[in-house]
Amino acid sequence: MDFYRILEKVVSGKFADTGEIATLLAPPDETAEKALFDAAYQLKCEICGRMVNLRGLIEFSNICTRDCFYCGIRKSNGKVTRYRMSENEIVSAAEKALEFGYGSVVLQSGERSDEEFAGFVERVVGKISALAPGFGITLSCGEESLDTYRRWREAGATRYLLRIESSSEKIFNAIHPAEALFSERKAALKRLQQAGFQTGSGVMIGLPGQTLKDLAADIAFFRDMDLDMIGMGPYLPQTDTPLGQQYPDSGNMAEQRLQLSLRMIAVTRLVLRDVNIAATTALQTIDPAQGRERGILAGANVIMPNVGDVAFRRDYQLYNGKPSLDENSLSIRENLIRSLAAIGEAPRFNSAGDPLHFFRRTGSGK
Ligand code: SAH
Repeated sequence: MDFYRILEKVVSGKFADTGEIATLLAPPDETAEKALFDAAYQLKCEICGRMVNLRGLIEFSNICTRDCFYCGIRKSNGKVTRYRMSENEIVSAAEKALEFGYGSVVLQSGERSDEEFAGFVERVVGKISALAPGFGITLSCGEESLDTYRRWREAGATRYLLRIESSSEKIFNAIHPAEALFSERKAALKRLQQAGFQTGSGVMIGLPGQTLKDLAADIAFFRDMDLDMIGMGPYLPQTDTPLGQQYPDSGNMAEQRLQLSLRMIAVTRLVLRDVNIAATTALQTIDPAQGRERGILAGANVIMPNVGDVAFRRDYQLYNGKPSLDENSLSIRENLIRSLAAIGEAPRFNSAGDPLHFFRRTGSGK
């Protein structure tokens, strides 16, 4: 059968074209799907053992100048109370991540490209990178100029996440207002690489109108862009957004998107091999008990537990049903350790957890 032949081919490290990737995304039955997940999980274990890299997630501001049709913190959503954590609050959250042994933090926010914001992030990154040598700092703050990316890189951030959302320009345009340009988003990814960041991107899975062929093209896009890190998750309709209102969920659409997301993780692992892949909060939103663990068993190797204050959590709802809104970061940590142990995995404490791919791509160190 075509499916198994192609699976064997990618497992052995051979090149698969977009058509073949699409075939892998649609296993013919449950046995085939299990074979896909098992192959991806085995490769994950070969690359980083039965360990998961952790990043403490700090959602430091929901102030946003963008109006993405799917996102709960888009600027036109008047229902959101806007906040920005202070420099001290962000640094304290990072100290907590360090104490927890997380080894790295992700600072994520809405998007602003003014000088006040650039300087703010630069100062915060500088303070966090002074906390401990080797503590990893990832930023996820949207599209910025090469100059701003360079300043943030020089201040001590080493990684950056900027999702392309969909590598199909048609879908990208359907979920963004006219002023958001696909070409600009892609150019920003190139600028990140130019500024020396370990660069991550990803897509939302199960967007209205998105086909398996589109998703296969997304994986080919990750490969063409030579990315180091991938963060993907199911699209989740948010009821205060235009896209969420236009296409409300019905039936078991969420569970189907979760399953498709797990297949995307598995195929991405097999095609890209030595990259970091996150089991995202969106997986956990659909399956609170097992979502992220299922992501790990499908080949992901990174989890981003929230270390921010519960007080801010409620105002950072990119989508509905976000888990752990009231759970403090210590309890999140304990539950994560327990649920990973249940699948025979453990957190890799006190390690920045750099993606091997970056060192291969740039020929630097390690
Ligand atoms: N503003 C920054 C980062 C914050 S948004 C940026 O643009 O990079 C982080 C990610 O959340 C987005 O890239 C998007 O893929 C995801 N997201 C937003 N709304 C979502 C929704 N309704 N369902 C699923 N994921 C969503």
